[in-house]
Amino acid sequence: MKKPSVQIVRTKKDLRTQVTEWHMSGLKVGMVPTMGALHHGHLSLIREIQKHVDKVVVSIFVNPKQFGPNEDFDKYPRSETTDIIKLNEVKTDLLYAPDVGEIYPDGFLTIVSVAKITEGLCAAKRPGHFDGVTTVVTKLLLQCLPDVALFGEKDFQQYTVLKQMAKDLDIPTEVMCGKLIRDEDGLATSSRNIYLSAEERQIALEIPKTLKQIISEIEEGKLPLQEALDKGNQHLIDSGFKEVQYLEIRQSDDLEPLTQTFTETSPILARILVAAVVGKTRLIDNMPIKIYF
Ligand code: AMP
Repeated sequence: MKKPSVQIVRTKKDLRTQVTEWHMSGLKVGMVPTMGALHHGHLSLIREIQKHVDKVVVSIFVNPKQFGPNEDFDKYPRSETTDIIKLNEVKTDLLYAPDVGEIYPDGFLTIVSVAKITEGLCAAKRPGHFDGVTTVVTKLLLQCLPDVALFGEKDFQQYTVLKQMAKDLDIPTEVMCGKLIRDEDGLATSSRNIYLSAEERQIALEIPKTLKQIISEIEEGKLPLQEALDKGNQHLIDSGFKEVQYLEIRQSDDLEPLTQTFTETSPILARILVAAVVGKTRLIDNMPIKIYF
């Protein structure tokens, strides 16, 4: 028997027709927006959302609006044929792969922008990036109208921004977070990891190691918070990173600097977040951390 393969649509009209049909049949629909070059981080999101819904839509769209003028939009990996094989392996129901004109037709003028959470961290070095993300994700969610959308913990600031956006704009989709997937050596899986040479990859591995080291120093009270961060920052530079763009600890729920109070039994649930450049590749990572002070 021939295996069923993922249905592919390229227009919002065809997407809406299929999703409406599913909704009319009482089925719950989930969406996983991606930029393609699919890896096991993306596939883990698809498997996760399948537990919550009946039908899964994956979108692949390399969004020009979220890349800065000197970033890698042109050379961002694109591999639709292998992506489709992977989508079939995890039994995705529908691939939405629009072209740029379908998302941004001539005369497109609107920008969706979330305040506050989009200041600092990744935004500091990537002006306009989150406006590009929120604009495209608003469009994708409104075109599809899924019951649930899943975004990866790997891009923790992005997830926090999108959750706020969906709430503020009354988008009728539950925004959820899927766990961060790492390669066997501990590096956070990313479509951009293919840019790394073998030597750069060894340097890149210092990111998860350094985060773990800082977490143990702070959680076990071996070093004061700022000292642990400064030491970690210096270690990354000494390991060969060209630049550490940020290495910070923020509150988990709103990404504000730490201001919450703690008790002996309930610590502040925080995040340690980092962005650093090795060679020409910018890497991000984050982990949860408990703060008792
Ligand atoms: P991208 O294709 O890089 O735009 O990512 C699409 C979605 O996959 C986003 O929600 C990312 O946060 C998520 N994602 C990317 N890498 C990972 C990973 N290693 N673990 C979990 N989710 C990821």
